Amino acid sequence: MFSIKSKFLLAVVLISGYAHSQEVVNKPYYNYQTKEYQSKKSVFVNSLLKKMTLDEKLGQLNLPGAGDITTGQAQSSDIAKKIQEGKVGGLFNIKGVEKIREVQKIAVEKSRLKIPLLFGMDVIHGYETNFPIPLGLASSFDTQLVQQSARVAANEASASGINWTFSPMVDISRDPRWGRVAEGAGEDPYLGSEMAKAMVFGYQGKDLSLNNTIMACVKHFALYGAPEAGRDYNTVDMSHVRMYNEYFPPYKAAVDAGVGSVMASFNEVDGIPATGNKWLMTDVLRNQWKFKGFVVTDYTGINEMIDHGMGDLQQVSALAMNAGVDMDMVGEGFLTTLKKSVQEGKVNIKQIDLAVKRILEAKYDLGLFDDPYKYCDANRAKNEVYSQANRDIARNIAAQSMVLMKNTNEILPLKSQKNIAVIGPLADNAENMPGTWSVAAKHKEAISLLAGLKKTFGNSVNFTYAKGSNIDYDATFEQNAAMFGKNTYRDSRSKEEMLKEAVEVANKSDVILLAIGETAEMSGESSSRTNISVPQAQKDLLKELKKTGKPIVLVLFAGRAMEINEESELADAILNVWFPGSEAGLAISDVLFGKVNPSAKLPMTFPRSVGQVPIFYNHKNTGRPLSQASTEKCQFDKFRSNYLDECNTPLYPFGYGLSYTQFAYNNLNVSSKNLKGNQTLKVSVELKNSGKFDGAEIVQLYIRDMVGSNTRPVKELKGFQKVYLKAGETKTVTFNVTPEDLKFYDNNLKYDWESGEFEIFVGGDSQKTVSQKITWNK
Ligand code: BGC
Repeated sequence: MFSIKSKFLLAVVLISGYAHSQEVVNKPYYNYQTKEYQSKKSVFVNSLLKKMTLDEKLGQLNLPGAGDITTGQAQSSDIAKKIQEGKVGGLFNIKGVEKIREVQKIAVEKSRLKIPLLFGMDVIHGYETNFPIPLGLASSFDTQLVQQSARVAANEASASGINWTFSPMVDISRDPRWGRVAEGAGEDPYLGSEMAKAMVFGYQGKDLSLNNTIMACVKHFALYGAPEAGRDYNTVDMSHVRMYNEYFPPYKAAVDAGVGSVMASFNEVDGIPATGNKWLMTDVLRNQWKFKGFVVTDYTGINEMIDHGMGDLQQVSALAMNAGVDMDMVGEGFLTTLKKSVQEGKVNIKQIDLAVKRILEAKYDLGLFDDPYKYCDANRAKNEVYSQANRDIARNIAAQSMVLMKNTNEILPLKSQKNIAVIGPLADNAENMPGTWSVAAKHKEAISLLAGLKKTFGNSVNFTYAKGSNIDYDATFEQNAAMFGKNTYRDSRSKEEMLKEAVEVANKSDVILLAIGETAEMSGESSSRTNISVPQAQKDLLKELKKTGKPIVLVLFAGRAMEINEESELADAILNVWFPGSEAGLAISDVLFGKVNPSAKLPMTFPRSVGQVPIFYNHKNTGRPLSQASTEKCQFDKFRSNYLDECNTPLYPFGYGLSYTQFAYNNLNVSSKNLKGNQTLKVSVELKNSGKFDGAEIVQLYIRDMVGSNTRPVKELKGFQKVYLKAGETKTVTFNVTPEDLKFYDNNLKYDWESGEFEIFVGGDSQKTVSQKITWNK
């Protein structure tokens, strides 16, 4: 769908100093399969299906959570009994190669048909070696690195018995109140699609049956990122034009990339929960997009349709099956009611057969029928997981995902400072570094900022630490934001005592590194916020430190786009590190001291005020847009589209991010101002590194369709390239634009482009661009 090819290829990996060979995959794994293989699979699966009783079929559709099976106890667990009776198709979130082997053994030795199990897990941004949260990964605008992160994750997970991950999460979101923005790629459909593909290719590779590739699961289908009021699990309602143009593309990109499975979302779509929505699961997913894999519900998604008001368990289970859902996560609605529904004629056995077939096919493609223990290699688990090589890759990717948002007087990179105050409730907290959804991470072993600095510099720099404040004044809030062992070590000292200590430490320093923001669990699932600021306790710390007159470098931890007006005024520099993963402290240190020159850009708009939400760069124009001049001056104009009490512009726009060097864009050139039909437009710009440091710039290409049969966004990202330039160097950066890039879904959901005028923008963020107008006719 999106055809602009990035010219940039392996440059990042090569110049990063963490070079790691990686074969780049760019086709669905099944495109590498032979016809002979396909037909062998079909014969195998059909003959197995013929041997199955209805109960055994329903068993394959059942995906219980692992509970708390411990090694050596699997045989006697409740789950074991069910597996033996053929009532389980897979298990998820069970960790440990020995445990998984034990459970698999029950399936293939004790159940009648010996069908192996799938082992799923939320491997969202790494397994034990943790990468930045996906919002951070997207900030790298670097599909090669993101594919590499998924490859490493697949390698580690598969070495530990896992053959299926519930990733990528590709829900577009423009509402940072919603905590799950942390798990996705932000607000843009093009960037989101590129990230979706990179992850699917990284996990699945060319051959799903290899012992180091795993099946991906794109989620949450669909529109989960647009809940009303940003409250998790809430109702979603949007036009089909918006769905198809803005929210569907990343799911479709994952399907086009050959994703093996799709997870249904919790929310409703057009008034019917996604889990029971036939239009979504069959018409769109299978008929329009030709999806070949299987659909799994989200956690108790079927049962939750009872609360949605869709009927009792039997009714909602039948609804899901008839909609085209294949596997039931946790709720056992399929297992316990579908037999009755078949007997009563409410569900056709053919639909159940289809679902079973899809699951058996996935197991076949994973190679589980050849060797059910393929992913249970204790040696691999010992040697390939959390290895130094993987952690070095994580360190590099983390550094490439940090966004420099402010850098007054070029305070960064730090140079000669010998006495550095390291202050803040997140400055020495290992557990929170991996961020949300880090099920398999070694939280306690993650490297905090303070630990990373000390490890890097030993005694050559004097780092003095003070906590300075708790995360929040409200202990209950802090407790709710410290789930899953991600302790905040709440300090029992008074606010005054903590501030006093911090000020004393600051006074003795040359510069303050202030690590504040959100804890890992202030974003993620069921972590919506109405206030997206840094908590007051930490703001007060910043204000107090400001009084010392020492320069402040703010290291911001964030799982969402935050409201940081005050911080932006008070801090001399801001490095937004999101949640960087296992190697956090080392990667932050690499950037602060200039070993890595930051290049990441925001994948999500940072608002001035939560009242502007939803705020996103690719909005429509309205019939009463505020003039450019008034927008820039933040001037209120009556009867124009604006606010009495706030500017229209964001604090930091989509695509924004600074470097230690500067980049100048000159001589935007288009190969033609008048194009016809299927021509290719070449857009080039001279990019100069006009500063003092070598560095990379993410060059972004946006297009505006000036007149359409439907209103069109003011700008849409259609390409990006990461370009490396030595200090003083100039390069010509070229993008190829084809009519494919101009296509959109009109009111009749016809996907095509329309003749007319287009504006082509190139720049370093969505606001600061150079542009040219062209006409393009059919
Ligand atoms: C989440 C999914 C996740 C699943 C299994 C659900 O609550 O919404 O994203 O994959 O749990 O852990």
